[in-house]
Amino acid sequence: MSKSIFILLVAGFTASTIFCQNCGVETKIQENWMPKYLENLRHSVFEKRSVLVEIPVVFHVVGRNNGSGAVSKIKCLESICELNDLFLPAAIKFYLDSAGINQIADDAIFNTSYINTGKQAMRAYNKPNAINVFVVNKVSENNALGIYDPDEDWILIQKGAIGTGKKVLAHEMGHFFSLLHTHFGWDGRPWTMAYDNKQVSSLSFDGKTPTELVNRLNCSVAGDMLCDTPADYNFGLNFQNSCTFGGNALDPNGVPVIPNTKLLMSYFSDDCRNTFSEEQILVMRADLNRDERTLLYDQIPPDNRQINQIPEVFYPVLEVSASFETDTLNFAWGAVDGATYYYMVLDRSSKFDLEPIEIITTRPSVIVDFPFLENTKYYWKVMAYNQHHTCNSFSDVKTFTLKRTTSSTSVKNNVEFEVRYASQIIEISIKTIHDSLSEIWLLNASGQKVLQVKDFVVNQENKIHLFYPTIPHGVYYLTLVGNHKFATKKLWVH
Ligand SMILES: [Zn+2]
Repeated sequence: MSKSIFILLVAGFTASTIFCQNCGVETKIQENWMPKYLENLRHSVFEKRSVLVEIPVVFHVVGRNNGSGAVSKIKCLESICELNDLFLPAAIKFYLDSAGINQIADDAIFNTSYINTGKQAMRAYNKPNAINVFVVNKVSENNALGIYDPDEDWILIQKGAIGTGKKVLAHEMGHFFSLLHTHFGWDGRPWTMAYDNKQVSSLSFDGKTPTELVNRLNCSVAGDMLCDTPADYNFGLNFQNSCTFGGNALDPNGVPVIPNTKLLMSYFSDDCRNTFSEEQILVMRADLNRDERTLLYDQIPPDNRQINQIPEVFYPVLEVSASFETDTLNFAWGAVDGATYYYMVLDRSSKFDLEPIEIITTRPSVIVDFPFLENTKYYWKVMAYNQHHTCNSFSDVKTFTLKRTTSSTSVKNNVEFEVRYASQIIEISIKTIHDSLSEIWLLNASGQKVLQVKDFVVNQENKIHLFYPTIPHGVYYLTLVGNHKFATKKLWVH
């Protein structure tokens, strides 16, 4: 709790404009893992999905050398929930690895992750036995939104393409578990009337993959070689306006092609994509049965307790001025059952989209080092989570305004006190205070309020005695609450 945290500004929460909906896994990259895919395909007929597998994910949130530009960490937490919704039918569950959300400040990875300098730098951060997701500014030269790199076995996501409602990560996870695009053979260029005529020839754009027929007679050798993913000639790349394809393409037999716009392994819009087909699920399950994948889920998963509480915010919660000595400010809230982490966000905007400061801490309090502005309204809120349950309700948004006290003498004059525990009594010796005290709080090291006193007497020696015989040994934080300020001191009980 006494630990100060150095703050890096993160990019605003608003996702950058997305111009195209595509992943960087081109035909030749998919061919790279084709032998594995064919093997998984053969084994998939024996697969069942009755057993739940739980898989750890590490996010590497990459910013510039100065730390700026990285995606907001809340987007990573949201992604775990999005993945779990989409992979529920596959009985595959993701949780945040113990390494959690790793913050990296490195220009090379931020902008050039697709060339060797970026790759080499990334290797130092790659964590074995977890799925590594690097969230960067630029995924590839052609500005893909995501890519699975089979050589490194990691995923890269462009920072605007992650979070609630975004499907790129689930798509790349599909590649991680060996899936091909539903439009395999058409990655180089999607079907277009001008190049391919209305009625498509019997070979896909790559010149070797058979064009999948609507009647599915060739489905086991055409496209992704799965028979429950209908013909798709990469229509999604140029067709994003609706979930009903209206491109009027005809298959080699002259039959109108109706692709399944819901399939996550297509390029249709995120508003449409939400599912893996039954056969795709079985191929992914077969991939998980490969020896090299066993360690991914053969680990003891972390605590899976539900989080049903919203953190109760203690301070600062005042809409009036508070004094402070330096650029640090102490934030505290109530501990939440089942939570192992807290995500706190602070900003000058109630939407948290101006210059949000994000802090992840294991304790329900944190000291923030930041040059806070005087007479400026700040907003903050906090969410409790654990490695499994990463999308819980936030506390109410609280506001506070600071009044900077310029002279150190006058700061000390505002409130100065000592606290000690002896002979079953907490003794508070007040040296100076220019405020009326309203309450005294005692918080334990976990941030839980163990004592809250409103009726107390300040004796003639300016001391307050609180009789507290049953206090367990440990570190505590005693807070004096005034009308316009609060002050906290550490208390050791031996
Ligand atoms: Zn892809």
